[in-house]
Amino acid sequence: MMFVCRYKECKAKCCRELRSAIMSYDYSLDEKRHIHLLVPANKATIGLSLEEKEKLEERAKELGIKLIINPLKAVITKDDEPVIIKWFIDHDSCPFLKKDYSCSIYDDRPMICRAFPLIPIINDINKRIICKSDFCPHTKDIIVKDDADYKTEFKECYPSYSEVRNFNDDLERKIKELVNKGLIKRMQMRAAIRIFENYGSRIKSFDEYYYETVN
Ligand code: SF4
Ligand code: SF4
Repeated sequence: MMFVCRYKECKAKCCRELRSAIMSYDYSLDEKRHIHLLVPANKATIGLSLEEKEKLEERAKELGIKLIINPLKAVITKDDEPVIIKWFIDHDSCPFLKKDYSCSIYDDRPMICRAFPLIPIINDINKRIICKSDFCPHTKDIIVKDDADYKTEFKECYPSYSEVRNFNDDLERKIKELVNKGLIKRMQMRAAIRIFENYGSRIKSFDEYYYETVN
């Protein structure tokens, strides 16, 4: 049975409960990869790239929507400088959700919204694998064994899932490159949060930092 998003039936459950929609994610695995969560795990919602953050801010301004976006994840440089790699919509119910449960920025929605209920997860051998989220009530009866099944059963979301995976793979490749050069270090989440909080408004985005570092 092929997946179809029936947002009217579920009343856009994933957009109304952003925090619960991603609660199953294991952030401790991120720490092993030098990535630090800057907020308590139960506050986190979908991750946004810098480009997506800027697009959402622009659209919110146009539509007169009150939107709060905050830093979600960072890497910490050897000089104890937090560099933000992802932001998040700091609301439980997405402010772009309309009363009829449709999305007011449908064509500009973030890639993770387009990919959902497909999500990339990291398994216990540190490999990124595809997964269908049980949070969506319409995935239960869909049987998938391998990538080919996901591609056919989740035809609409699979290309966006690939986009998310490629984005994350590219980010990880760049982080690894900086780790190998000794420019990024790993620390406990609490210590990373402390550094971030003390840093005030001088925070950099990963894109900016990477560009400065490799050039
Ligand atoms: S992806 Fe699932 S939970 Fe989200 S709106 Fe569609 S049917 Fe509902
Ligand atoms: S941007 Fe649109 S699709 Fe994404 S969570 Fe908000 S309302 Fe839902």
